[in-house]
Amino acid sequence: MKLAQRMQRLGTEIAFEVLVRARALEAEGRDVIHLEIGEPDFDTPRNVIEAGCTALRDGWTHYGPSAGLPDLRQAIVDYVNRSRGTTFAPEHVVVTPGGKPIMFFAIMALLEAGDEAIYPDPGFPIYRSMIDFVGATAVPIPLREEKEFRLDVEELAGLITSRTRLLIINSPANPTGGVLERGEIEEIARLAVEHNLVVLADEIYSEILYEGEHVSIATMPGMMERTILLDGFSKTYAMTGWRLGYGLMPEDLAAQIGKLMVNSVSCTASAVQRAGIEALTGPQDDVKQMIAAFQRRRDLIVEGLNSIPGIGCVSPKGAFYVFPNISEIGERSKPFADRLLDEHGVAALSGTAFGDHGEGYLRLSYANSEENLLKALERIETAAKSTAGVS
Ligand code: PLP
Repeated sequence: MKLAQRMQRLGTEIAFEVLVRARALEAEGRDVIHLEIGEPDFDTPRNVIEAGCTALRDGWTHYGPSAGLPDLRQAIVDYVNRSRGTTFAPEHVVVTPGGKPIMFFAIMALLEAGDEAIYPDPGFPIYRSMIDFVGATAVPIPLREEKEFRLDVEELAGLITSRTRLLIINSPANPTGGVLERGEIEEIARLAVEHNLVVLADEIYSEILYEGEHVSIATMPGMMERTILLDGFSKTYAMTGWRLGYGLMPEDLAAQIGKLMVNSVSCTASAVQRAGIEALTGPQDDVKQMIAAFQRRRDLIVEGLNSIPGIGCVSPKGAFYVFPNISEIGERSKPFADRLLDEHGVAALSGTAFGDHGEGYLRLSYANSEENLLKALERIETAAKSTAGVS
């Protein structure tokens, strides 16, 4: 079948491909530790599951408004304004099946050929994929280990041209766990206002923060009218499979994204949205326990990685990923990640799955038990030692 040209420009998320390979090895009887996929290993809190089941029984089985149920949009506004100090109203909210469609729709709605969009590298691969897909020019802003994977504001300023229309930031970040500081957010906001940029602020990991503060760029002067704040339930409430996320943005853009919803999925599942209301307004103990567990695992994996000859790992301040530097072990990231899976039974991602600046790194998700993390560390050490570069 002849495909449209644009399909050649569409990328993917390697994590899903590695997951398939890992599952195939397991089907052959191999023992694989999964550190590849970006989802909490915890179950959705019980009260949220109950709310979803009750909603189904109570008849929330029909289409709903394309931008989301009014009660959920209100609950989102209350939560975001409370947690960030913003002044959003329900008209600013579009509820979507996961946070990802906000990227898809916002980039579709805003960019065209000739426009430039600056995105983090290493960064979530869908940013680049979507910028390419719509025919705009993707401009990477490198995130470096020396700066604990926070972007360099001066370097960013140097990348902005008269054609730059969109800047994507992600803090806390996937794949590095880096967290932007208040002063940096202020400077980025100043640049955005000066150059009339729209900022897509992916704040999906805002609650999974161990040190420092989460600062939303939407709180900076002049930014409410040029920010698309992306968040969702997948990570905070361990709801990846429910597909529930949202964006907050200027009202006119929200109306256009509502139209993209009508043209694609019509609306987000109604019962799932009812469960989302319970997640935001119900008890938060499960979330707190999950984050405390992630913090213990972070400390364990960072210490373990740093004790392996040839590997160095910055301690990330947020999210549930580490991005260890493996450049000294004498093997490039992709073949090392492949070998880790095929020969040692650890599913990990090459840093290059997140952009060219990921060469020399691996991404490991530590959303796995401490027991499995310890086992994985042993296997990684064996793999690193069997590489030519390390004695
Ligand atoms: N943004 C980032 C940085 C992510 O890592 C992910 C998921 O891995 C998402 C957004 C999308 O999450 P979802 O579509 O499940 O809400």
